[in-house]
Amino acid sequence: MTNPYEALGVSKNASADEIKSAYRRLAKKYHPDANPNNKAAEEKFKEINAAYEILSDAQKKANFDRFGSAEGPSFGGGGAGFGGFDFGGFGGFSDIFENIFDQGIDGLFGRRSGRGRTARGSDIVIDTEISFEESCNGVTKNIVFNRNERCPDCKGTGAKDDSSLQTCSYCHGAGQVKQTQRLSAFGVIENVVQCPVCHGSGKIITEKCKSCSGKGNTKKHVSYNLNIPAGINDGQTMTITGQGNMPDGAAGIAGDLHIRVHVAKHPILMREDFDLYMELPITFTQAILGTKVKIPVVGGTMDLEIPPNTQNGTLRRIHGKGVKKLRAAGTGDLIVKIFVEMPKTVDKRTAQLLEALDHDIRADSYKKVASYRSKVYN
Ligand SMILES: [Zn+2]
Ligand SMILES: [Zn+2]
Repeated sequence: MTNPYEALGVSKNASADEIKSAYRRLAKKYHPDANPNNKAAEEKFKEINAAYEILSDAQKKANFDRFGSAEGPSFGGGGAGFGGFDFGGFGGFSDIFENIFDQGIDGLFGRRSGRGRTARGSDIVIDTEISFEESCNGVTKNIVFNRNERCPDCKGTGAKDDSSLQTCSYCHGAGQVKQTQRLSAFGVIENVVQCPVCHGSGKIITEKCKSCSGKGNTKKHVSYNLNIPAGINDGQTMTITGQGNMPDGAAGIAGDLHIRVHVAKHPILMREDFDLYMELPITFTQAILGTKVKIPVVGGTMDLEIPPNTQNGTLRRIHGKGVKKLRAAGTGDLIVKIFVEMPKTVDKRTAQLLEALDHDIRADSYKKVASYRSKVYN
């Protein structure tokens, strides 16, 4: 390639303003509109655009000054055509070959196209917490996050206007270039690589969009009303396709938005699939005499009848009082495990009453005790 300083006719110490005015003067002079059917002018025009692309970019300019290439240090110096090509940009040796096969014929002759070639923005993952009741009934939750969106002023091109977006002179708009690489084990192989000047876009920007500083993207604060369906469980993730980040540039599609839902614990009810479980403590007198107790259910409470002589550990299944199934018909059950709690202490009078009662209760009321005694006491 031509030395970009020579192409623009400026010294190595030229200021950014000097480079810019030199570029503008030459671009005007060699612009194809001013030189119809002039092949030499067209070549010159491409050359100064490529030169300006390097010298107007601090990183590329620094790379050129240091390594003689806008792309930074080259690997092995085997590259032909371009000053250098950074192999570090690929993951490793095998990737070189994958890259060739991946690009195939499309890569050699045209713009990026076909399977897997569409640029896709990155996904966004956010967390949201809802209450137990909300997880059972469903809820609309306002979520806020930041994402990359295509710049509305330049439509993602990064250029100030149409005239500041020029076809790249290195790749003639293809976005890719052929490059030979000398590898000792394989001789010379020919790679198709992304154009180092336009980074695959096929275009170069002579004046950047002010809104996005040429990035083509803007960070935007997004507020989104998310409908969380009834039945969602703790740790489940909702994915909304196409609501993630936009990729750089004017083409491509947005990534996805993933919302991880965290459900706050209920003080009594525990969930397993769509059933709810709880332990219900009652006093030993309630267990003997029977009673009515209040238990929590989705959306409030209900009364549960405890029949007389209820045993400790009894399980009661209450149909349809679980969680509504997620995006399906039906509702789970509520399973209540009875825990009969013994008093920690009794006063003297109660102890006497119990003693008197114990003599009144017939021995065959205690089946387990009777069975145990028959085996141990003979
Ligand atoms: Zn813009
Ligand atoms: Zn290019």
